[in-house]
Amino acid sequence: MSTNRTFTMIKPDAVENGHIGAILEKITAAGFKIVAMKYTQLSLRDAQEFYGVHRERPFFGELVEFMTRGPIVSAILEKENAVEDFRALIGATNPADAAEGTIRKMFATSIGENAVHGSDSDENAAIEGAFHFSGREIY
Ligand code: GDP
Repeated sequence: MSTNRTFTMIKPDAVENGHIGAILEKITAAGFKIVAMKYTQLSLRDAQEFYGVHRERPFFGELVEFMTRGPIVSAILEKENAVEDFRALIGATNPADAAEGTIRKMFATSIGENAVHGSDSDENAAIEGAFHFSGREIY
């Protein structure tokens, strides 16, 4: 995967609250091209593997329960400097700390239920994209 790509999920809270369209609009307006996208639901095993790095954290159980409770939209996005620019677009993990105009400031409700995921490095973007999409689902 090119280093100009990042991976995102619109999380169950944002889907439940009807924000898929508004979030995709913010993403495309910021110059990201959608190269892969699906509407899906994570199994328990999927979420435990995807968030495996957080396995020892006290919130792991809550995180897995949240991420599996309903459908998500997952996508691979392309843009120059994609990882860093997308992290700036979504804002801080805790919406209370997120800058005005960021996706988490606008649509997230708490540090746990924070509306969107964004990869934190090029390496993780490639791993996370490959976890969700096969090569023939990426355009
Ligand atoms: P991110 O890279 O900004 O998504 O943040 P992290 O990698 O630190 O955490 C991954 C995800 O775990 C976050 O996006 C939240 O959904 C969740 N999370 C992080 N901290 C907490 C917490 O203190 N409590 C709960 N319930 N969830 C958390």
